[in-house]
Amino acid sequence: MPFNLSLANREAAGLKRRLATVDKVAGRLLYADQGAYLNFAGNDYLGLSQAPELRLAADDAAREYGVGAVASPLVVGHHAIHRALEAELADWLGLEAVLLFSSGFSANQAVIKALLTREHLCWQDKLNHASLQEAGLLSPARMQRFAHNDMASLTARLKPQSGLIISEGVFSMDGDLGNWPELVALAEQSQNWLMIDDAHGLGVLGREGRGTLSHLGLEASQVQIMMGTFGKALGVSGAFVGGSRALIDYLQNYGRSYVYSTHLPPPQAAAILAAVRLARHADDKRAHLAELVECFRQGVASLPCELLPSITAIQPLVIGEENRTLALADRLKALGIWVGAIRPPTVPQGSARLRITLSAAHQRADIDTLVSALQASL
Ligand SMILES: *Cc1c(COP(=O)(O)O)cnc(C)c1O
Repeated sequence: MPFNLSLANREAAGLKRRLATVDKVAGRLLYADQGAYLNFAGNDYLGLSQAPELRLAADDAAREYGVGAVASPLVVGHHAIHRALEAELADWLGLEAVLLFSSGFSANQAVIKALLTREHLCWQDKLNHASLQEAGLLSPARMQRFAHNDMASLTARLKPQSGLIISEGVFSMDGDLGNWPELVALAEQSQNWLMIDDAHGLGVLGREGRGTLSHLGLEASQVQIMMGTFGKALGVSGAFVGGSRALIDYLQNYGRSYVYSTHLPPPQAAAILAAVRLARHADDKRAHLAELVECFRQGVASLPCELLPSITAIQPLVIGEENRTLALADRLKALGIWVGAIRPPTVPQGSARLRITLSAAHQRADIDTLVSALQASL
């Protein structure tokens, strides 16, 4: 097995992954390595992971149902609390039916591998998440990647009635939005199916935080498949797939990571349900977050670095070279600030970056601290 060599190569290229152990997160602070840091690396965009409502809901459910689902959903793992969460999601997002998964990664695997056959094509944006790309490659369908958000590049590859187009609501490493009005039009014209992965739009954008489609004035019914995760703005973990009753029935039968995996622990489902109810009424948090984004972008506008265009909580500073990116992240850490240093293969070669994420848990003064630290480090 050649794994030693692969690891050595990664290390030599400055690409070896480092695992940090966090002692705890408390609001905007992260405790690790005997220090406290302002946390600009997580995906808890509304600060819900710490909300007392979620903790209480998980506590109550643990007492009522126990801590484990005890089986896969189709055996005896599907509890009333899961049913309640599915109903709340369907109501929130305007979906006919919803299926719960333990993770976004497994949800994407289930959908793509269960739906596509050898006769299908699967068109994916080049910057789609690894879970989408991997599922596309492992599926029997032929994968075709189009240039990021480039509708001409997609059009050149599209064939009528041949398969599934997949893109993201908010791109996870860039923070920009997918070109959904055009994607919807192209899918309709070519009579192909359309799937949105809205991991980073859900809770943050749109009316009641319904996500990217709502933000752009589109309806959930304009895509055949909506996927979203509970580990980002909803502050917990897990995922759902939504669509027609027929689609969900099909996935319940043929989605292998649904059928053959233990269902979400009831306390987790209860916490997610509490998070959805809070997120629906969190316009104040969303407004605060938008203000922080604006403030951050103004603050770094004059700095010698490339800030990608983004209206979302994801604010990437592209540095380029891997070791320089790591050194910058270390320098910020010494100043009490934790940001993600994202390197290939997570992002394209030569575009290593600081992935700075803002949260409604931050205060204005935190953004000032961040901007000053960047000024001193760049
Ligand atoms: C995080 C993420 C996933 C995976 O979700 P998990 O629940 O963390 O497994 C899928 N798609 C996108 C775009 C993501 O950002």
